[in-house]
Amino acid sequence: MKRKVAITGGGIAGLTTAIAFRKAGYAPIIFEAAEIVKPVGAGLGLAANAIKALDKLGIKNKVVGKGRALSSFTIKNEKDKTITCTDSLKISRQYGLDNFTIHRAALHEALLSEMPGAELYTGKKCMDIIIRKNNIQLLFKDGSTVDTDYLIVADGIHSPIRQKLLPGSVPRYAGYTCWRAVIDNSTLNIDNSYEIWGNKGRFGAVPLANNQLYWFATVNSPANNTRFKNFTLTDLKEWFREYPLETRTILSQTSEDILIWNDIIDLKPIPKYAFDNILLIGDAAHATTPNMGQGACQAIEDAAVLYDELLKGGELSSVFLRFEKRRLKRTHFITNQSALIGKMAQATNPLMIKMRNAFFRSIPESIKDRQLKKLYNTDF
Ligand SMILES: Cc1cc2nc3c(=O)[nH]c(=O)nc-3n(C[C@H](O)[C@H](O)[C@H](O)COP(=O)(O)OP(=O)(O)OC[C@H]3O[C@@H](n4cnc5c(N)ncnc54)[C@H](O)[C@@H]3O)c2cc1C
Repeated sequence: MKRKVAITGGGIAGLTTAIAFRKAGYAPIIFEAAEIVKPVGAGLGLAANAIKALDKLGIKNKVVGKGRALSSFTIKNEKDKTITCTDSLKISRQYGLDNFTIHRAALHEALLSEMPGAELYTGKKCMDIIIRKNNIQLLFKDGSTVDTDYLIVADGIHSPIRQKLLPGSVPRYAGYTCWRAVIDNSTLNIDNSYEIWGNKGRFGAVPLANNQLYWFATVNSPANNTRFKNFTLTDLKEWFREYPLETRTILSQTSEDILIWNDIIDLKPIPKYAFDNILLIGDAAHATTPNMGQGACQAIEDAAVLYDELLKGGELSSVFLRFEKRRLKRTHFITNQSALIGKMAQATNPLMIKMRNAFFRSIPESIKDRQLKKLYNTDF
């Protein structure tokens, strides 16, 4: 008889992992802290590696049907001059998979629709666990408890369970703060994804399906800065006044009530994801800054690798160890590389900016191809 598997967290990692377990013949139970399972955030880039993982889980078509394929991604300066451009169509030709963008709500909807009849309990914030000889007890904020044989920890970057298992594994602040929103794109008609790397921060626009546009802005700041916390769209327009007119048009077409603000944080790579009958996945294990657009992609890869290992069989504790072996190096690389890109992208010193832009312009296509290959070539 299959033993009991519990998953804490019903985000992208928790839901895709639940799908992986169900496909492998388990009936995982999901405990989500929020009263309703709802996506937090705006748009998402789902790169070719995530699409491959979704394919492995048998849910590619469902997800990409709700997304939009990207044809290119450009990094420009504030004078609208290209620094570097990635040809997504070339990636499609090489890897047979597109890079997609999707609204988080659409991704959640697609994932939830893949698990009819799943046991998913909301309003269940897991605060602590007791590890016993034969099982694990979950302690919830509402005072209730649940016993499980195995636990998948998918409760995001602030995971209390990870911090219990690895004291000191606290989120670290990246040094910049972020605003984002999804707006209507039918009058703007922005076709391709871009980021502006200017001396006052970054501004990016990403077209989504259904004539929607996801935009984000990042600005260097001390953590939890009250001034930026209270920033309005008018303040942002003033901040980015020297950026191309389109930036201010996008901001003008956004309403205050949909503006999301948060500091950018990640998790310094941790040495372990598997702890006997407990496994950390997604942001709880390897939260990264959004500079490579890989956080959710890696969460989805986690589910695909776990599925692969589940099919190979064996005790779940050894499945978890095999998963850890396959995931540590790759996820550490993404977190470190993404943090480095963030530092370069957020440069404000004019000389540094000049050097950075010249460096990026000089990168030969062959090196860019090699970097993309590393990202898109997965081990499943
Ligand atoms: C600005 C920004 C832009 C991004 N852009 C991209 C992108 O373009 N592409 C990409 O791939 N990634 C992107 N990411 C990263 C991506 O959002 C995360 O990597 C992804 O959401 C991680 O999913 P998760 O399920 O591991 O964690 P989360 O999304 O944090 O989900 C955790 C879930 O657990 C629940 N929970 C929390 N605590 C508990 C608890 N104690 N008990 C039970 N449940 C709990 C939460 O309510 C939530 O539902 C971006 C992130 C940011 C901040």
